[in-house]
Amino acid sequence: DGFEEAGLVEAVLRNVARCGYDNPTPVQRYSMPIVLSGRDLMACAQTGSGKTAAFCLPVVSGLVAAEAEAAGRGGGGGRGDYDDYGRTGIHEEAKKFSHQTGIKVKVAYGGTPMIQQMRDIERGVDILVATPGRLVDMIERSKVSLEAIKYLVMDEADRMLDMGFEPQIRKIVDGMGMPRKSVRQTMLFSATFPPQIQRLASDFLSKYIFITV
Ligand code: AMP
Repeated sequence: DGFEEAGLVEAVLRNVARCGYDNPTPVQRYSMPIVLSGRDLMACAQTGSGKTAAFCLPVVSGLVAAEAEAAGRGGGGGRGDYDDYGRTGIHEEAKKFSHQTGIKVKVAYGGTPMIQQMRDIERGVDILVATPGRLVDMIERSKVSLEAIKYLVMDEADRMLDMGFEPQIRKIVDGMGMPRKSVRQTMLFSATFPPQIQRLASDFLSKYIFITV
């Protein structure tokens, strides 16, 4: 199966082609239909497997489809923080797939001045790529609200826990205005699936599908 069969909207398919991705990787092939169908997902996948696109593509596609539907009705995640590759890698991928869709991708991560990120976010955001510490900070300063969130993706969950971010993650997901797990759609990505991650999955995901590649 290629990307055409996955159920992505046309604008996102064009961006996939523009990126030169000819065929989906296994984690992409499995996860895209699950996410597009509205189910929660627990995916065990390593960096290098194409996992970033596996969650970015269906999320961007879902947001574009929702915008189109709303228009049709006439309505209107630093230095010392945990992941230098992940935060910039996700931002870059999400931007590439959002090209010419109107979807705005912004960042909230430590190591760069918060004021600049806040101003940028205030101009409007559809996808926020954030690290846990900075996100807690922004929510506490009322710069970010999660009340209307539709998709929650936690990437490299095992690494976030290894680095001691479980309290921040639990704070973000269990409180701070996050919709109930049966209302939002949640995806959890981790290279490994130890008991600590299994607990996160049962606490944060709703009747999820498990895939491992
Ligand atoms: P990731 O596992 O998300 O860190 O992705 C690893 C690398 O694979 C990144 O540089 C992606 O741009 C690239 N990549 C992801 N999916 C595909 C694909 N379907 N075809 C070709 N390259 C891809």
